[in-house]
Amino acid sequence: MKHKHLFGPVMSRRLGISLGVDLVPYKYCPLNCVYCEVQRTTHLVTKRENFFSVDEILCELDGFLDDKPHLDYITFSGAGEPTLNLDLGQIVKHIKGNYPDYKLALLTNGILFEDPGVRKEVLLCDIVLPSLDAASQMAFEKINRPQAGLNVDSMIAGLELFRREYQGKIWLEVFLIAGINDSETELAALAKAINFIKPDLVQLNSLDRPGTEEWVKPMSLNALKQIKRFFAERLASPVEIISKVKYPCVDSHLDEELIHLLHNTLKRRPSTAEDLSAMLDIHINEISKVLRQLHLEKKISVKREPRGVFYSWIH
Ligand code: SF4
Repeated sequence: MKHKHLFGPVMSRRLGISLGVDLVPYKYCPLNCVYCEVQRTTHLVTKRENFFSVDEILCELDGFLDDKPHLDYITFSGAGEPTLNLDLGQIVKHIKGNYPDYKLALLTNGILFEDPGVRKEVLLCDIVLPSLDAASQMAFEKINRPQAGLNVDSMIAGLELFRREYQGKIWLEVFLIAGINDSETELAALAKAINFIKPDLVQLNSLDRPGTEEWVKPMSLNALKQIKRFFAERLASPVEIISKVKYPCVDSHLDEELIHLLHNTLKRRPSTAEDLSAMLDIHINEISKVLRQLHLEKKISVKREPRGVFYSWIH
């Protein structure tokens, strides 16, 4: 059965075998991050909506989960911000009520956690993975390019309130960009905010494959290690680097099939991730994960053109 809201399961670096649940239309997000792997935000919004029929989403989930597939997580993610969907709470309750053996994860930019209703809706998730890339408004605007009026201090306050209310795990991701949030001042402000939020783990990330803006470059492993040391001396939470980590495509004939399809396509015709998603009818996040891995393994090359980032198979 072809799914509209589910993708994968994919092998996730952080979560293992993960079934993706995409709850928002393509690129609806309150942020327009310069490093976004699914390109520019076309709908820069904070208004929550019932984007789809909730019955349609629950029906897809039931059809998939009734076969009791092996999964490490069911993960709300996609090419937009999942908390924008007003039905999120109902969907969380449905999964936890009917499939209590499955663990639930939420990938979020954390912007809407200011809203007590949003925080309440996700309390049943086992793990929440928010992002925090800056603690100064200037760096926040440069990196995350939020909808006008969004304030990083309110976002940090929302995350801290969530920490107090939520019993599950919080793994906070910090995306590092040389020249913007890697100065001692910015890192010290981030450390202060992170100690206020008190996540269970801090994960440092950098570019693994081209982002939305060409000027964003990957950070060297040495620079990341220095920043990790800087944080380790100041943070109460443990910190790790997740960038540049090659993950094994274990147990994943699905990834192997997809790699085969990508090989056949990209050796004939350079394509963007969006082209591949449309051509192969596979969710953009699923394609993105495998492209990132192939790029790290130097199996594909990358060229930026006016229409987007094109990938080719290296012969
Ligand atoms: S990285 Fe996430 S939060 Fe940022 S623009 Fe892309 S989808 Fe939105």
